[in-house]
Amino acid sequence: MKIIMLGAPGAGKGTQAKMIAEKYSIPHVSTGDIFRANIKNGTDLGKEAKSYMDKGELVPDELTVRILLDRVAQEDCKNGYVLDGFPRTIPQAEVLQSELNKQGTDVDFAINVDVPDENIIKRMSGRRACVTCGATYHIEHVPPKTEGICDKCGSELILRDDDKEETVKNRLSVYHDQTQPLIDFYSAKGVLKNVDGTVDMMDVFNAITNILG
Ligand code: ADP
Ligand code: AMP
Repeated sequence: MKIIMLGAPGAGKGTQAKMIAEKYSIPHVSTGDIFRANIKNGTDLGKEAKSYMDKGELVPDELTVRILLDRVAQEDCKNGYVLDGFPRTIPQAEVLQSELNKQGTDVDFAINVDVPDENIIKRMSGRRACVTCGATYHIEHVPPKTEGICDKCGSELILRDDDKEETVKNRLSVYHDQTQPLIDFYSAKGVLKNVDGTVDMMDVFNAITNILG
């Protein structure tokens, strides 16, 4: 099963993608996580990606598509995957589409997690991410057992640089300009499913599993 998560930054794509990956035994592939891992390891890719991410802009398509195609070519992706944060532009979606067509396969579901802008800023300022394993929390909605410490691996939790209010505003405007058109793209392909992302995260997950079966 090949699933794409659509939605604004902070809509809950990562939260839901992790649960989908576990339930359906497919890998969770997040381009944001791949970039952050490269930043942490000080790679050239990480240095280049960081210059865009810190401003709330998109990493150029060419670079992003290359790392995504490398990732989904790996053995663990052969029975499907859930993409979180990719595609984010029409050209990215077109490259993915032509790669899948070459392999005689297709996207099965594009799940749009719908959350209005006014909820997003609040969500992002409360998001905390683990510096080591990438697990995410929310100070009100999903607090860790011990403040500032990851339940899963015991590392420090931080507010991502790009979750600061000014950057979030820019990310939202980039989302509306460049990513939102993907809703029409996948709707035209007949694979778009909308879910209300403002409700409790388990209710969002139930709506998604009803769709995926
Ligand atoms: P995205 O991957 O779309 O950027 P995340 O999954 O990281 O978003 O979620 C953003 C923040 O909102 C996180 O702090 C997360 O814990 C919280 N969150 C996710 N889903 C919900 C929900 N349904 N209700 C309230 N908070 C949520
Ligand atoms: P995310 O973790 O998905 O919120 O992504 C964090 C940041 O990484 C984004 O604001 C972009 O700068 C960059 N990024 C992640 N995925 C993509 C993508 N598919 N295309 C371009 N930039 C991306």
